[in-house]
Amino acid sequence: MTKQLPHADVAVVGGGVIGLAVAWRARQRGLEVVLVEREASLGRGASYAAAGMLAPVGEADPQERALLAHNLESARRWSSFADELRDVTGVDVGYRTCGALLVARDADEASHVEREREQRERLGLRVERLLGSEARRREPALAPGVRLALELPDDHAVEPARVVAALAEACRRAGVEIVTGREVSDPRSIPTERVVLAAGAWSGAPVRPVKGQALRLRDPAGPGLCDHVLRFEGGYLVPRGDGRYYLGATVEEQGFDTSVTALGVYELLREAAEVIPGVLELEIEEAFAGLRPGTPDNAPIVGTDPADERIVWATGHFRNGILLTPLTAELVADELTGGRPDHALRPERFAVGATT
Ligand SMILES: Cc1cc2nc3c(=O)[nH]c(=O)nc-3n(C[C@H](O)[C@H](O)[C@H](O)COP(=O)(O)OP(=O)(O)OC[C@H]3O[C@@H](n4cnc5c(N)ncnc54)[C@H](O)[C@@H]3O)c2cc1C
Repeated sequence: MTKQLPHADVAVVGGGVIGLAVAWRARQRGLEVVLVEREASLGRGASYAAAGMLAPVGEADPQERALLAHNLESARRWSSFADELRDVTGVDVGYRTCGALLVARDADEASHVEREREQRERLGLRVERLLGSEARRREPALAPGVRLALELPDDHAVEPARVVAALAEACRRAGVEIVTGREVSDPRSIPTERVVLAAGAWSGAPVRPVKGQALRLRDPAGPGLCDHVLRFEGGYLVPRGDGRYYLGATVEEQGFDTSVTALGVYELLREAAEVIPGVLELEIEEAFAGLRPGTPDNAPIVGTDPADERIVWATGHFRNGILLTPLTAELVADELTGGRPDHALRPERFAVGATT
């Protein structure tokens, strides 16, 4: 099947945010690029399911510390990335500088919140500690049970579906050949000079699928339930600014299963309603599940395969693929044009070449 692909210097396998952004940047550097997506339309994998939070300091997990610098760097790039996409395509990706509130309901959650405050202060990031009453003054729909919160003014959000639309249009305008409805069975059989593996959760070992269920909600009365992204133990609520909300997400090791379960939806709504009871008034537009591309250390795999110079990995972005899109695209474009950027995301750490 792959032998019928149009001639190109580079083939990108996968039409999610990562594959699209890599294809666009590679084409901008003068390479002939073909992007191959097995679904009939682009961005129907994890990119479809993502909330679009640009939250570089989401986790206190020590093994994710190596990721932090990359997350922060990519977050810094998002504003100009969004501007560039809008200028090139006319598509607004919904970049909202809404900030986030990280809220705590009990002593355990409060100590988690305090740890995140300390970490942000150490990193020199803006953060403000709020008692429950002040948090409710800023977000009046918060429940009385919220006792502590952090205001995170630099945690922004985009709309992933719009990001996919903008990147697809940018690719088309730049002259990337996009082939949909074509599954690549063996990336190594594609006869281009380089092949970028951007197949998300389907990229093969050591990448594995990590299921996330989520809801799209809508307030028929319009916007106003909350303005900030609200983050809490067990989930988050992302306002789109027009009465639509995203409520996510479960984290489940279930293999390639994308069923939506009553338990998953129940848990999301139960946790959210404890923080912002008005969420139960919203209409459910869609319940869905996506597969995050997880890796053993939760950091992406970006760079040339140590065992095969033709293959470049651009996958394993787990919970941060939207956030990391601008940076990943640059790193891979560097790699495709002869560079070998030195960073902590390189595939050598897993000896991927030895296992595939
Ligand atoms: C519920 C949920 C919430 C999330 N929230 C956020 C968030 O708020 N912020 C954030 O930064 N990230 C978030 N993420 C993570 C983010 O969605 C992913 O990291 C990102 O979308 C990965 O993009 P990708 O292009 O690598 O993968 P995908 O979007 O999965 O794209 C991979 C593509 O490859 C195609 N493909 C696979 N195999 C083949 C093949 N053999 N041949 C051809 N095509 C193939 C697939 O069809 C798919 O379109 C979330 C993820 C989930 C599931």
